[in-house]
Amino acid sequence: MNFETLSILLIDDSKGDYILTKELLADIKESMYHLDWVSTYDKGLTAIKQNSYDIYLLDYNLGEERTGLDLLNDAIESGCKAPIILLTGFGDHDLDIDAMKSGAAFFLDKSTLQSEGLERVIRYALEQKRAEEQKLLQAYFYDKITGLANIYLFKEHLTRAIAFAERYNRELAILCFDIDNFRRINDSLNYACGDKLLKDVAERLSSLVRKSDILGFDMLTDDPVKIARIGNDEFMILLSEIKGEYAGKVARRILDSLEEPFYLEKQDVFITACIGITVYPNDGTNVSTLLKNAARALQYAQQIGKNQYQFYEKSMNAASLKRLLLENLLHKALKKGELTLHYQPQINIRDKTLIGFEVLLRWFHPEMGNIPPNEFITIAEECGLIIPIGEWIVKSACSQMTSWIKEGYNPVRIAINLSKYQFNQPSLLEYIHSILKKVDLSPEYLEFEITETAVMHNEVKTIAMLHKLKAMGVRLSMDDFGTGYSSLSYLRRFPLDALKIDRSFINEVPGNQDDYSIVRAIIALAHSLNLSVIAEGVETEEQLKALLSLNCELVQGFLFSKPLPPEEVKIYLTSKKTKKPQQSICDILSGPLKKQLGWK
Ligand code: C2E
Ligand code: CA
Ligand code: CA
Repeated sequence: MNFETLSILLIDDSKGDYILTKELLADIKESMYHLDWVSTYDKGLTAIKQNSYDIYLLDYNLGEERTGLDLLNDAIESGCKAPIILLTGFGDHDLDIDAMKSGAAFFLDKSTLQSEGLERVIRYALEQKRAEEQKLLQAYFYDKITGLANIYLFKEHLTRAIAFAERYNRELAILCFDIDNFRRINDSLNYACGDKLLKDVAERLSSLVRKSDILGFDMLTDDPVKIARIGNDEFMILLSEIKGEYAGKVARRILDSLEEPFYLEKQDVFITACIGITVYPNDGTNVSTLLKNAARALQYAQQIGKNQYQFYEKSMNAASLKRLLLENLLHKALKKGELTLHYQPQINIRDKTLIGFEVLLRWFHPEMGNIPPNEFITIAEECGLIIPIGEWIVKSACSQMTSWIKEGYNPVRIAINLSKYQFNQPSLLEYIHSILKKVDLSPEYLEFEITETAVMHNEVKTIAMLHKLKAMGVRLSMDDFGTGYSSLSYLRRFPLDALKIDRSFINEVPGNQDDYSIVRAIIALAHSLNLSVIAEGVETEEQLKALLSLNCELVQGFLFSKPLPPEEVKIYLTSKKTKKPQQSICDILSGPLKKQLGWK
């Protein structure tokens, strides 16, 4: 689109009139217009239909049967939007009126035509055209609500800024700004108010960021700051010629500026926001990478909390973002009651009785669904949340057992997994002790499953800790046995009660000869050390038979039961009154198998 030059087509059968018109236009600056000429009705109509010109000068007399007025009517009918000026030669008033009625923008009397008149008409048409283009431009490149640039224009600005920065070896920063909880504000006020808020935010951003003192650099270009609204409540700020690290200061200033409330609907409205920052050329050298990274950094900032800014870092990939998200959600999970405990039966396969349950943590998040412990326990450990969560587990599981006892069931053991962080936590003994006391549960019903990795790094300390736990009267088992260092020497020195053969060894028993041998060795080792042994992950009848033949006494696995919520697992407990459980755990097995095993 050419913004400056007006293209004019003269449709006139007379070359003389063309020359005359040109002369009339001679006073107008030549760069302003460009005049073409066609001499026939058909050529004129074709040009009009092709929308080739900004303005048409139409002679009434085309030297044909059809007149300029006919052409005018055809032109309007074909949807011509450009102004058409009908040139009349008769001073005929009726014709003028007809022309106006048909939709001509102007009519000019050729006989009295002055260059001034023609110029005025052309200038007017030109202005009209510019206004149209301005409107179009506005719609394409600017945001309606705030009047700021939109994302398309922002990308244009960014492209130019990158080229500049590249040429002059400078840095630039992009700040991606997003209002915290804008939805809530929008919902609690009304949409008009939401729009007003966006407008006010835009104004505040603009006035703050455009002050050169906050930017702390000398401007080389006339306008080194560009602000755009690129989404709902999301703004982008481009700071050219800035030292990357300074962008953090700008971000802080922006966030601080929000402490001042906005005034909407006769009340003060307080908002906070998050900002993600990315810096050229460090984080990226092209528009799309930089925009993506700014958005990522923003997401990070939002995950961490409100009123934050974050610089983009290379480690901000999808996986670490998910981690961060989980960490965030996990902080609230305990308070919101999203954590629950499931209980998986552990069975003595010699006397076919339930000896207890392993306590397994479950996390159900209303939006994310069930999140597997393998995904969130490491996170809980790394961010320290395992300490309060671990304490909650001990408390909940112990009081669960007490309430079963109160309901009239015989007590059984609960085996709780203890992570290495809990194991090294000074207050561990204290809270276990106080919980047992508080819920009035005998320590013999509490077992801790400890992994080899938890106890390997400081043997002296470990042994001391294990002895203290033992002294309290709780049981200790070595979890995932065989997967860690499996140093046999420690087994004798550690005051353990049981070894738990890891699921990975049980998996291919009896088919896999190596695994079978390992399982046999572990069972023999445990027994020789006077430890009991429990096989976890028992899923098939073949595995059960093999374990029986190897003289393994305890098992746990899907063959008997998955970890179940407390209501469902309770039916396996023995009632003091009836002396038997509502549901015998062995009845889960198939009839033929029970027969084969000689189980009733
Ligand atoms: P783990 O201590 O080895 O727990 C046993 C895992 O094996 C549980 O997975 C259990 O659901 C699963 N399992 C039990 N029987 C079978 C079976 O027959 N077949 C198969 N394929 N799997 C079986 P879960 O609940 O997903 O827990 C995974 C890990 O998360 C646990 O491994 C444990 O290390 C950790 N974890 C779970 N709950 C807690 C907890 O309360 N505290 C701590 N510190 N860690 C926990
Ligand atoms: Ca375990
Ligand atoms: Ca295990």
